[in-house]
Amino acid sequence: MGSENADIVIIGAGFSGLYAMHRLRNYKVVCFEAGDGVGGTWYWNRYPGARVDIESMEYSYGFDEALQQEWNWPEYFSAQPDLERYANHVADRFGLREQVRFSNPVRRLAFDEASNLWHVHSEQGDHVVCRHVIAATGSLSAPNLPPWPGRETFTGEIYHTARWPKENVDFSGQRVGFIGTGSSGIQATPIIAEQADQLCIFQRTPAFCMPSGNRPLDESHEHDWKTNYAERREQMLNSYGVSLVDYSRFSAHDCTPEEREQILEKAWHSRSAFQLLFAFSDVMTDKQANDMVCDFVHRKIRAIVHDPETAELLCPTSYPIGGKRLCMGNGYYEMYNRENVELVDVRSSPIVELTAKGLRTTDQEYEFDAIVMATGFDAVTGAMTRIDIQGRAGNTLLEKWKNGPTTHLGSMVAGFPNLFMIHGPATPGAQAQMITSGEWQVNWTADIIEDMQRKAFSRIEATVDAEQAWAQEVDACASQSLLRLADSWYNGKNIEGKKGGFMVYVGGFPRFAQLCEQAIEEDYSGFVLE
Ligand code: NAP
Repeated sequence: MGSENADIVIIGAGFSGLYAMHRLRNYKVVCFEAGDGVGGTWYWNRYPGARVDIESMEYSYGFDEALQQEWNWPEYFSAQPDLERYANHVADRFGLREQVRFSNPVRRLAFDEASNLWHVHSEQGDHVVCRHVIAATGSLSAPNLPPWPGRETFTGEIYHTARWPKENVDFSGQRVGFIGTGSSGIQATPIIAEQADQLCIFQRTPAFCMPSGNRPLDESHEHDWKTNYAERREQMLNSYGVSLVDYSRFSAHDCTPEEREQILEKAWHSRSAFQLLFAFSDVMTDKQANDMVCDFVHRKIRAIVHDPETAELLCPTSYPIGGKRLCMGNGYYEMYNRENVELVDVRSSPIVELTAKGLRTTDQEYEFDAIVMATGFDAVTGAMTRIDIQGRAGNTLLEKWKNGPTTHLGSMVAGFPNLFMIHGPATPGAQAQMITSGEWQVNWTADIIEDMQRKAFSRIEATVDAEQAWAQEVDACASQSLLRLADSWYNGKNIEGKKGGFMVYVGGFPRFAQLCEQAIEEDYSGFVLE
């Protein structure tokens, strides 16, 4: 097949990719998408109970006033089908679907230095030559399948929460083995427990889980948002990323134990899953303050879960609350009071293999009809390193990032000109609100592309010095946060052997945005243009 030309290739028709298509509609754009529909995260993660943990009035696009006025969310925290419906509505309303090549993931990118053009090769054999590539590939999109041997021998079905089938999966009458107790596991297990005969949950590290404040959206709340949307969106960009949290100004140490208890009790029942982390100003920076919040949650777990041994296993003690993404559940701890649910600690006796009948830990073999893996993602870098990306001088991104990702402002990589990432390594990512911050990054990227066209530049590249300076900024912010004390997808330690440091920018979205804008105002500081 011959090649074709475009101005820009966008990889991924998730929320950022869709907006990038709209924002850059005056260019010839081709978008490649691995799935057969739009929505990215909300296309793939259709497991039972999948639901966003940020209010939908906020977790939605702000680029079009008519869109945000006309759309109605049925619940405070939308379930996956509503989010997927919204993505489809946006694709149709703005005529984006025609530009997307579905079921056609990008397999190879190669930069041609003589022409300053990228050659993009897809699975279905498409070959597009373009000036710019925007990787809107998502930070939680490459599923992690731990390399247990024996997978092919298991005679039942194996599911991964991030590759859930579209057809209804019914576990009625089945013995189900469920691996993983992060956000996905916590949402899926209470629903599967209601169907299955037996549900055996394999936990390596317990999670902190807040009860979800989900309920049907009330009209006055919706009306309040819709009359003040512009202001609300502005607040979101000027906050830590989520505006619906009361950010406390006082330390946990400034309260009496009774006052602390009252504040935490209120936070536990608040409408935002993240309120516990901001109940005091120092929960994420002071270990003692954090311990007080951990202690509060441990007491909640012990009060809910009847069996004391199970309750102790469920109490996270090896990392600070907020160190891993706080989870939002619906009857998660209560589920362990059911007769048909068992919790197995695979920290003390790890899973060693899958077998024909089920799986084996170092202790014993368990028999199942189905196995569900909620084992998370090769996060932040996985979606990029799974593509064969060759930059200048034939250097590959895989090689460049073998000891961990390096970027300038989370957006570009030295040696890989004209390749932009949205939610790339060392951006705020899930430490901000992904749709709004994604829109912001798309606008920043599109402004650069338009400016290059005006000034007749054909190439932009980050410098190695700028990458090093950005790494220092990222580390300096992480060193002030207790987030560094947990093994999680934020630092790649959820996956054995994955190298690199902290991959998320925790200096806050406002500072991130300011530094990105400043770099452009200072004559593209940290970039070289030709
Ligand atoms: P995750 O948080 O990384 O959880 C994966 C789970 O699998 C963890 O319990 C992990 O244990 C376990 N696991 C991984 N490898 C294992 C192994 N070899 N043996 C035993 N257990 C293993 O992944 P996730 O639950 O899919 O969530 C990822 C992120 O997606 C979240 O942090 C959140 O940002 C986002 N998310 C959000 C929502 C929401 O909005 N409500 C829902 C789902 C996901 P360890 O903890 O020991 O590694």
